[in-house]
Order: sequence, then C-alpha cells, then structure tokens
Amino acid sequence: MKSISRRQIIKALGAGGALSSLGLAGCAGQGVTPGKAAAKVVVVGGGFGGATCAKYLKRFDSDLEVTLVEQNRQYTTCPGSNWVLGGIRTMDDITHGYGDLNSRYGVKVVHDTVTAIEPGQRRVVLAGGQSLVYDRLVVSPGIDFRWEEIEGYDASVAEQIPHAWKAGPQTRLLYDQLRAMRDGGTVIIAPPGNPFRCPPGPYERTSMIAHYLKTHKPRSKILVLDTKDAFSKKGLFEAGWAALYPGMIEWVPGSKGGKVERVDAATRTVYAQGGLDQHKADVINIIPPQRAGQLAQVAGLTNDSGWCPVNQQTFESSIHPGIHVIGDSSIAGAMPKSGHSANSQAKMTAAAIVAMLKDLPVISPSHVNTCYSLIAPDYGITVAAVYRLQDGAIAGVEGAGGVSPTDVPHQFRTQEARYAEGWYTSITQDSFR
Ligand code: FAD
Repeated sequence: MKSISRRQIIKALGAGGALSSLGLAGCAGQGVTPGKAAAKVVVVGGGFGGATCAKYLKRFDSDLEVTLVEQNRQYTTCPGSNWVLGGIRTMDDITHGYGDLNSRYGVKVVHDTVTAIEPGQRRVVLAGGQSLVYDRLVVSPGIDFRWEEIEGYDASVAEQIPHAWKAGPQTRLLYDQLRAMRDGGTVIIAPPGNPFRCPPGPYERTSMIAHYLKTHKPRSKILVLDTKDAFSKKGLFEAGWAALYPGMIEWVPGSKGGKVERVDAATRTVYAQGGLDQHKADVINIIPPQRAGQLAQVAGLTNDSGWCPVNQQTFESSIHPGIHVIGDSSIAGAMPKSGHSANSQAKMTAAAIVAMLKDLPVISPSHVNTCYSLIAPDYGITVAAVYRLQDGAIAGVEGAGGVSPTDVPHQFRTQEARYAEGWYTSITQDSFR
C-alpha cells in the first residue's frame, strides 16, 4: 500500500473534519528511510475514537506500524442502541467487527486488555502478558462511571437495574425488562449531570421507549428524573413528546426533585430530595455520572475533574508527553462527548501524529459534530456545530450549525429521520470499514 496524497487526505477527512491548513504536504511518498525501522503507533480502544484513528494513521502514512488493542472482538455502537430499545433496529444492526481495519488498511488488531501504560519505557502492558512498545500512543478508552455518587447503585446492581450507557449486554438487559413489563407499568429514566457521553442520548432513549410503549403497552408511563434543569434540544424533544406521546412522559428537573440520590434495588425504588421523594417503578434505567475510562485513570492521564487534559491542537496529554487521548475521555473544549466528535478528533490526531513523526508543522484543526435523535421512527431532530482552535481552545464557530427549526411540516422531521439513518451508515463505515 502506498502513502496517500495531500488531496486524498483532504477528501478522506471530509466526513468528520476539515483541514484548514495542512502541514502534511510532504508526507506522500516520504516513506521509511531504507534501513530505518518504521515508527510504531499503538492505539488503545477500538471505539469511534480508536478505530478511526488507527485507520486514518495508516491512510495518511501506510509505512507506519499501527497496532490497535481492543478488549472485545466486536464493537456494539451506542448510537442506534436507543433504536434497538424502540424496536426499530436489532443488536446485529449495531454490531461491527475489526476485520476491515486489518485487511483493507494493514492495521494490526490485538484483542486484549491494556492493564498499564509505562510512559518512561514507552510501553503498554497487556493482560495476556505481552507488552507493546510505541513511538506514539493513542488512548481512547471511552467512559467509566462514578459509582460512588448514587447510594445503592454500583456495577453489581447494574446487573438488575441497567444503565445501558455502554452498548451490548446492558442494552439487551434493558430491552428484555421493557418487553417483560406489564401494560400500565412505570419506567424511570435518570439522566446524569454534565458533562456526560451523548448529551441528547437520554432524551432520545425516552422517546424510543415511549414509541415502544405507545405501540405495545399504551397505558404505561415514563418518569424522567433528571439531575439537570435543561438538556440538549429540550424544546424540540418536548414538542415532539407533546405531539406524539401526550400524557405518557413526565420530566422532573433537578431543582424540582429530579436528582436521584439513592436506589433500592430490592424494592425498585429511587429516592430524591434527601429521601422526601420516593418513586417506585417496574423498570428503572439509571445513567450514572461519568468520568474518563478506567485505563486513563490508572495511567494517570486524568486531572481532578476525572477527565484527561490535552493539547487542543494535537490531543497530546498535558500530563504525559507522547500519549494522545481522544474521544469521550478527553477534555475537548466546547465539543460534546459523542461518536461524531471522537471520529473527528481521531482524524485530526492521526494527521498531527504523522506530521510530528516527520517533523512537519502540525495542522490547525477544524472539527465537526452532528447529533441526530429520533423521537419516532419517522420523526428526527438534529444539532450540529463546527469547531476551530481559538486562542488555544476548541471553540464553536459562530453561525455554523444550529438545531432543527421549530414549526416545520411533519415531512421535514421525516426527512431528518432518514438523514439520521444515513449518518449512522456513513459514520460506522468511516470508523470501521
Ligand atoms: P468508546 O466508543 O466507548 O470506545 C472505547 C473502547 O475502548 C471500547 O471498545 C472498549 O472496549 C475499549 N477499551 C476500554 N478500555 C480498554 C483497555 N484497557 N484495553 C483495551 N480496550 C479498552 N454519539 C453520536 O455521535 N451520535 C449518536 O447518535 C450517539 N448516540 C448515543 C446513544 C447512546 C445511548 C449513548 C450511550 C451514546 C451515544 N453516542 C452518540 C455517544 C458515543 O457512543 C460516544 O461518544 C463514543 O462511543 C465515544 O467514542 P470513544 O472512542 O471515546 O469510546
């Protein structure tokens, strides 16, 4: 495989990010000097961030030796997992393998868990006993939960009361509980405070569960007990709920007793306002507060916030040079924690690493994020934004992006629902194929 040209790089970046100025012009054809070993880049975590970064590192410089370490053999996307709960997609539809990254791009894929990072030795240690040395390391381990924040709710209780905020068996558990629930039952959904993975996600989930209940168990209710007083696309969600699911959804903001403080799994009861408010439900979905993925914590890549501070241009850790942290784990200025953001950051980081390894100037990045949400199968809404580096920080570009308009004919929402499906196909294609 040959290194690709500057034009091809710009084209390749089109789906998730754009280059405002490219320092990689000299990259094409500048392969390995005969006799000199290829630079080694190890990428940990094969989600939207890691898989995309591994692929684009090879696309930008096919001479690199790129190894992706992912603990699971298949990746189930969180995007689309709410659609599974709504009964409009299957788990198979949202599950992807890593075969193409190897066969099409030459990424070496290792299925193992990274247990430690040794920045001094530039080495990662795997649970299987192997260790891998690197010239540059990319870490994209997603999120972990702050189990200590809600009394009575931890990893073992989540086996009965799912969070379903990492897709896979947890999605299946919530799905099964909703299917087993009686008509006339109550579902509680408890979203966390900011920042967390996928700001509109809990409200799309509310919508998709409402769609299922309306179709199969129409006497049921959904109580959203929120930590916050506002949420992403709130006006659009509430208008959709009023139009499609009148009387089914009640949303309680944090300032009015929405913040869940304790869970009693045995009686399926949640407590708020110091125990003054108690709510019993047939199905409970707690989405706990979050922090960077466990590996980032173990490796000392996090600060007091629980997330990873990084150089906003290169995503190189501000704590450990030579290690880049991307995706949900990173602190990325105004960018939300989303698959689209992770994909965009991954490409910019791949470009930065290729430039750094070749002593070329690093590009000034431009990022993009779009989050579609389905309120019903034929009713979609969206939020989109473009980001640029301003005074060393990733900031939204004024006037670019925005949310779906209000007061549009139903046909407009149907069109956005089709765009949401198209978005899913293209982002998974871009990350895993
Ligand atoms: P992840 O995708 O979580 O990937 C992390 C990977 O690292 C995992 O595969 C994990 O197995 C692996 N890993 C972790 N630790 C180790 C280790 N020590 N060793 C080896 N492997 C390890 N985003 C959107 O853009 N659009 C949407 O519509 C959307 N919908 C969503 C709906 C829901 C319900 C949820 C919960 C999220 C949604 N998101 C959406 C957000 C999106 O899923 C995340 O932002 C995205 O997955 C972040 O990518 P990441 O690479 O940071 O982490």
